[in-house]
Amino acid sequence: MSGTHTGSCLCGAVTFEITGDFDKFFLCHCSRCRKFSGTAHASNLFSSDARITWLSGEDKVKPFEVPGTRFSKNFCAECGSPLPRQRGEGVMVPAGCLDTPVEIKPDAHIFFADRANWDEHLEDVETFDQRPG
Ligand SMILES: [Zn+2]
Ligand SMILES: [Zn+2]
Repeated sequence: MSGTHTGSCLCGAVTFEITGDFDKFFLCHCSRCRKFSGTAHASNLFSSDARITWLSGEDKVKPFEVPGTRFSKNFCAECGSPLPRQRGEGVMVPAGCLDTPVEIKPDAHIFFADRANWDEHLEDVETFDQRPG
């Protein structure tokens, strides 16, 4: 059984399809993921054998690697949104760029010791369905 997911960047220039199933779902709090995402953690889905098909805007997909590390990401050259990236035989997909539901729940918070100092018990913070007036 093989699932299919679709996704897009914020400006809509880049759209894609992921064929295959996700094996792992990690919330990464490392400093690089915090920089790249602009928030508390990256939320990345991994698959060992899925494939990315770019449906539009493949020419806008810009790769970035931190020199001397294995940290590598794709993003939209137009709007900066994180995008999926092929990793060896598999793929890494930032969960937020998907437009279809994800079947699996996050497996773990990783690099949790590197988290931001405000990233503590966030589930206890008051919630609103809109921006409060
Ligand atoms: Zn874009
Ligand atoms: Zn990370």
